[in-house]
Amino acid sequence: MAEHAAPGDAEAKRAVAPVPAYPPDTLPPADIAAYRVARIGWSSVESLRVAPRTAATFTVPKGHFFRILSVEGPQVGDLNLWAADDLTERFYSGKTRALHGTHVSTGDRLWSSLPHLRPMATITDDTLDWYGIDGFGCGVHDVIGTRCDPYTHRMLAGVDYDNCCHSNLVRALSKRLGLTRAAVEPHVHDVLNVFMCTGFDRSGGRYVMKASPVRPGDFIEFFAEMDLLAALSACPGGDCGSEHSSDAASCHPLEVEIFRPAAAPSGWSEPVPNAYVGGRGGAA
Ligand SMILES: [Zn+2]
Repeated sequence: MAEHAAPGDAEAKRAVAPVPAYPPDTLPPADIAAYRVARIGWSSVESLRVAPRTAATFTVPKGHFFRILSVEGPQVGDLNLWAADDLTERFYSGKTRALHGTHVSTGDRLWSSLPHLRPMATITDDTLDWYGIDGFGCGVHDVIGTRCDPYTHRMLAGVDYDNCCHSNLVRALSKRLGLTRAAVEPHVHDVLNVFMCTGFDRSGGRYVMKASPVRPGDFIEFFAEMDLLAALSACPGGDCGSEHSSDAASCHPLEVEIFRPAAAPSGWSEPVPNAYVGGRGGAA
């Protein structure tokens, strides 16, 4: 309950219609038709499985596609992306949310951190695009969650759990780069919650989740706009219908498949670094 009395014009204030914070028609368009044509005659060059409650890393050359697939049973994945040659350029969940919305699907981009701010990957197919936003305000593939992590779990539950997505991503990145876990932990960042079904409840705005509608055979497909290093965790929450940060949920593997197109999409070139010339707080 509010502690302070509403002003006389409270309803008038509430009745003001909002405007888009970032008008979508000002975004550089993604030519999905050209990406789709580029899939014709592509070849699968690598596939890997991510075991439940673990993470795995993989690289995707620019101009290639990759899919994250549901296999065996419903499972949520937590995805981190970095520019393959520069860990400081990494997926920027918050700006992606501001630009595209709370959940992403075909045609949306995964944007990189400042000062780079360029598309790292474009979503070119999503078999769960039928879900939309349900009556609870929940959708699939969110950029509103962060990743389950042992610090929050310790704070809230008072116990330690070592297979949170954060921990899985740290271990996988450490192994990939041959660096200590302490050295790589700061590079693990807020994720794309692949297949996860989440929202903000309409009454209090709290972050809520429900069982993912994903089924074996479902996938989300990306086009790598730059050379990517990726890490994917198969969340200990399984379909995230009840709880995470424990061994209680039924968990399944995830599969990643990487495809090389026969030719680059028509008109495509690697996104250039952001054109803002001020840098580091402005030119002044
Ligand atoms: Zn998780």
